[in-house]
Amino acid sequence: KAKEGGRNSYQLYTAEMNVVAMDRLLTQNYLRSALQQDELELFYQLQFDSISGQVVGIEALLRWNHPELGYVSPAYFIPMAEEIGIIVDIDRWVLRQACRQRKLWQQQGLEDVRISVNISALHFRHDLIKSIQLALKETGLDPRLLTLEVTEGCLIEDIEQASKTLTRANELGIKNSIDDFGTGFSALSYLTQLPFDTLKIDASFVRKLPFDQQECQIVATIIAMAQGLNLGIVAEGVETREQVDFLTKKGCSIMQGYLYCKPANADNISTQLLELYGTGSVNSAEVSLSA
Ligand code: C2E
Ligand code: MG
Ligand code: MG
Ligand code: MG
Repeated sequence: KAKEGGRNSYQLYTAEMNVVAMDRLLTQNYLRSALQQDELELFYQLQFDSISGQVVGIEALLRWNHPELGYVSPAYFIPMAEEIGIIVDIDRWVLRQACRQRKLWQQQGLEDVRISVNISALHFRHDLIKSIQLALKETGLDPRLLTLEVTEGCLIEDIEQASKTLTRANELGIKNSIDDFGTGFSALSYLTQLPFDTLKIDASFVRKLPFDQQECQIVATIIAMAQGLNLGIVAEGVETREQVDFLTKKGCSIMQGYLYCKPANADNISTQLLELYGTGSVNSAEVSLSA
């Protein structure tokens, strides 16, 4: 009996696996065609200075607008895009699209605020600078309006190559920010070895503020360290007033999170910018992402 049960559950397991495998295969094929069929879309999320109330940055966030599933988060499909080798194509599309949109906002009067683009590890190691130069040339965007967001995963394989790439970006006028800080496993020494301008405190730390003693201690320490290293600091995933108060008091005043702005499409963000800065001109955003 037990044996039978075992076999049954084994069969069930394989059947399930097949469904999962099939599902993945379908998804992979859909993902391939999504790039060609205009199903990819960029959302944007505004970053605010909690003290001045000004917009100080905009992060571009990729969405897959699937005809049946609706908007799919990159957390779900990016690992798959890496696996099937189309992540670099997707990243390049994102870069171009983000630069184009930022150029448009500049033409509408939005000065100084940088647009942040997330860079996948594969793209980072695969001619990133060339992709950037191409995107800048194609869109005419001033590189001083661009920030790269890289995770620790981009750095671990070859720190010297990483340093060269980040330095080159700096030379072009681009800023570098370290994303999801504290969630990877790399040594802290990379912070002093690499030319970063900004550090983003991961949402997983922010979430438990200000009620968890230990989490408060960790965040306060990250902020103090970033200040000591002369890095700008952005808090991710800010959802409550209490979090804002704690972060601001500790010295991090740049907030990104649902409390201030949910990621939304370009039209929606344009409307928000116009509401903030008035019709016809959004150029009163004088603060640039601190670094
Ligand atoms: P990330 O770069 O750390 O982006 C922040 C994530 O937090 C975004 O998830 C954003 O929608 C979400 N978020 C922002 N504020 C809040 C909040 O207050 N509460 C909560 N719960 N979440 C908030 P999203 O858009 O699903 O992106 C997930 C990750 O996918 C990103 O994390 C980034 O690592 C990656 N990603 C996004 N766009 C791109 C892209 O264009 N290229 C690449 N290579 N990766 C991307
Ligand atoms: Mg990011
Ligand atoms: Mg992040
Ligand atoms: Mg994160």
